[in-house]
Amino acid sequence: MIGITDPFTSMTVAEFGQRVPGQSTEAVHGYMGMRRSQPHHALVTPLVQTATYTFSDTADLCAFMEAKMWGTDPDMAERGEYGRYGNPTVRSVEKRLAALENGGDALLFPTGMAAVTNVLLSMLSAGSHIIFTDDCYRKTRQFCQTFLQRLGIESTQVPMGDYEALEAAIQPNTRIIISESPTNPYLRVVDLNRLVEIARRYRIKTIIDATFATPVNQRPLDYGVDLVIHSATKYLSGHNDIMAGVVVGQAGLIHALRQSQGVLGGVLDPHAAYLLERGLKTLALRVEQQNRSANTVAQYLDQHPKIRRVWYPGLAHHPDYEVALNQMKGFGGVVSFEIAPLEGEEPLATTSRFIDAMTIPYIAPSLGGVESLIEQPALMSYYEFSSEERLEIGITDNLVRFSIGIEDTADILADLDQALAQV
Ligand SMILES: *Cc1c(COP(=O)(O)O)cnc(C)c1O
Repeated sequence: MIGITDPFTSMTVAEFGQRVPGQSTEAVHGYMGMRRSQPHHALVTPLVQTATYTFSDTADLCAFMEAKMWGTDPDMAERGEYGRYGNPTVRSVEKRLAALENGGDALLFPTGMAAVTNVLLSMLSAGSHIIFTDDCYRKTRQFCQTFLQRLGIESTQVPMGDYEALEAAIQPNTRIIISESPTNPYLRVVDLNRLVEIARRYRIKTIIDATFATPVNQRPLDYGVDLVIHSATKYLSGHNDIMAGVVVGQAGLIHALRQSQGVLGGVLDPHAAYLLERGLKTLALRVEQQNRSANTVAQYLDQHPKIRRVWYPGLAHHPDYEVALNQMKGFGGVVSFEIAPLEGEEPLATTSRFIDAMTIPYIAPSLGGVESLIEQPALMSYYEFSSEERLEIGITDNLVRFSIGIEDTADILADLDQALAQV
């Protein structure tokens, strides 16, 4: 066998056997040690729909308790005890996600926000301080400014991309810096090397919400980020049919978070985990297609006379183009853009007419699924604000966020073309 060359990688079979599996292989098989026989010789991870687990007798129970308390027998300690402390279907997906992000372990939650709030509640105590960047998920900001504030945890918001302001915001009690990359809706990209360099000098933990990137496009743990969070509702599950969240990091930190989860109580339902695992198998395929389509759409919109501005990290004029080029394998499936204002019509109305003229994407919040979704942030996430208040947060009335699905790129371009002809 040795000496036979693989036509795709030009590696010999011997070299191939030693290489680290690529992400499509990992997405399908999980980490290699996972490729073992399942109960009933089933190929697919079984959906273990149970609230609790049984012990054959008291000796069995005591052996489990000993293993759990003293860590003597890891296999025994991993067996089921009670649904809030773990489930084999959920566990299987966690291991897959840890492998994809190159992390030690992962912990699933019922939503992305549950992951964010559980992590922050577990890691912060009264009197501590957290820094977050603007242009980050609105509910994360709200959580810091209301709930954490009430518990005596101060927070500071710093402008995305301003690393001097970030360092200046650090206090002796700062414990965490949290940011998204890329952000919503302007797809700003954090320079992870710079972020980690600053945080480490002050012994501060870093958390990146990498929902928009997926591990296919960016792996923050490889840059020394402590924890990566995803709303698995988006690309990871990819079919707009479940909600889930995940945090990935070093095994010790995830173990501590797992203990907290057992107390706080927000666990993922096994059925949602089953669907998440199914979705994950096509993650690399979907994201590669979405990268390609979004890049083409961004180029198309960038030269269109009825578009005032396009925000996509793959465009050379995006403020973080250089950073994205260095640390991302693809630029993602979301494109944000502004419709050029028309004489005699409110920009809000022109933009709504454009959105209503689109036929492929559904009007809906969320992103990352196989179906294209489109929205006007001014009306979707910021409806209760006036135009002036929205401008202050940086949301213009003519802004559109387009999450590109896996439809044919040519059909999406044709749809954009006919909708833009109508405004
Ligand atoms: C959707 C989203 C969240 C929240 O996730 P849910 O699953 O909706 O709770 C957090 N961060 C980002 C970047 C998101 O897009």
